[in-house]
Amino acid sequence: MFNKDTKEFQCNNCGKNIETGEVVWTKWQFPPKNNASQLKSRKALEFENVPILCSACSEKLIAKF
Ligand SMILES: [Zn+2]
Repeated sequence: MFNKDTKEFQCNNCGKNIETGEVVWTKWQFPPKNNASQLKSRKALEFENVPILCSACSEKLIAKF
């Protein structure tokens, strides 16, 4: 999620701040075309406020399925 107060992206599970370049899991629709990948920018993620999981949480949660 995007925290509007701190202007940081945070893990939805543990609340950890997401660093630039960090590998994360996001609930995001697959882009329709190759050239549409530009839409997956920080601004777009901020605007959509998509759920984000840090790599540690995504590994833990996905392992439960
Ligand atoms: Zn986390």
